[in-house]
Amino acid sequence: MQSIPMHADFSQTARPAHDPLVEIEGLKVRFFTDDGVVEALEDVSLTVPRGKTLCIVGESGSGKSITGRALLNQVPSPGKVVGGSIRYFREPDAAPVEITTLDPRGRDMRAIRGGEIGLISQEPMAALSPVHTIGNQMREAIQLHLKLGRKAADAHAVEMLAKVGIPRPAERLDRYSFEFSGGMRQRICIALALACSPRLLIADEPTTALDVTTQANIIDLLLDLQSELGVSVMFITHDLGVVAEIADEIAVMYLGRIVEQGDSVSIFKDPKHPYTRALLRSIPTFASTRGGRLETIRGMVPSPFARPTGCTFNPRCEEAIAGVCNRVVPWPVNVGPGRTVRCHLHADRAEIDRALESQS
Ligand code: SF4
Repeated sequence: MQSIPMHADFSQTARPAHDPLVEIEGLKVRFFTDDGVVEALEDVSLTVPRGKTLCIVGESGSGKSITGRALLNQVPSPGKVVGGSIRYFREPDAAPVEITTLDPRGRDMRAIRGGEIGLISQEPMAALSPVHTIGNQMREAIQLHLKLGRKAADAHAVEMLAKVGIPRPAERLDRYSFEFSGGMRQRICIALALACSPRLLIADEPTTALDVTTQANIIDLLLDLQSELGVSVMFITHDLGVVAEIADEIAVMYLGRIVEQGDSVSIFKDPKHPYTRALLRSIPTFASTRGGRLETIRGMVPSPFARPTGCTFNPRCEEAIAGVCNRVVPWPVNVGPGRTVRCHLHADRAEIDRALESQS
């Protein structure tokens, strides 16, 4: 057996392998509606690594978009962050900014939003103003965040439009968003989001509304820009096929909780959570390479007003443990370097028994 060197530094083993840009810890978001309180996010903890891509994946209603909005300090009403923290490490060696304590409309948050953290959303038509030219919208953002004069701002806008593949960019500054195709509009949104050299780009289902060919072009563009500009990306999607192409790290969400996370290679090679495995079986490429039938996940995501007790995935889970999974909420279990899974199949049986005993 290999001996452990005397000078081994065990403090290093607890550190993440990468340099974090954002650390979210124990985040809780509630929606206070007339029909009751909805647990939109419960105990969400994840890291966005600097210069890499974190994909948040899950079906509709999993809380992935709310996670992105919380990072921008823009949880839509009647939602509220009621616990946890979001630390933004502007510089690797400086103290982090605690996003949850900033006034959402204050100067500091406005400087971060749009300047340091950019957003591309699913619907470019909604993100671009129909009554202002593309040039006006880009100029306003560039002048606000980069403090450039009008001429320099226009030159920078043209440069960004060229970078995202808009032909004859100088001529296009005077055009309106409705004069472009869906794919071109999404390219303009990417140029707008990247124009102020953000450290982080949140891409919330950016290809969902586009046809398959345009989707592939936009994904290629994002990959090229990321390697050229070194920007971190939080990519929010329901599509594990896209995740396979772009992710360095993956967080799988279900009903407001992260159920599995880790590096992309190990999750695709050895998914531990029954929900991740079910999502993988529903990707056409994975099913077809195994010569198998394309599967769907049985049942539907429950209403947030009727959360199942215990593990919220238990009514849909084919591996649920009778008498356990419908009673005990699973906790995160370490299953490898940088990998956690919330599932009783991986938890210590004695701990599960203690949790059951405490209920009786
Ligand atoms: Fe399935 Fe139980 Fe694991 Fe939940 S905790 S995913 S119900 S096995």
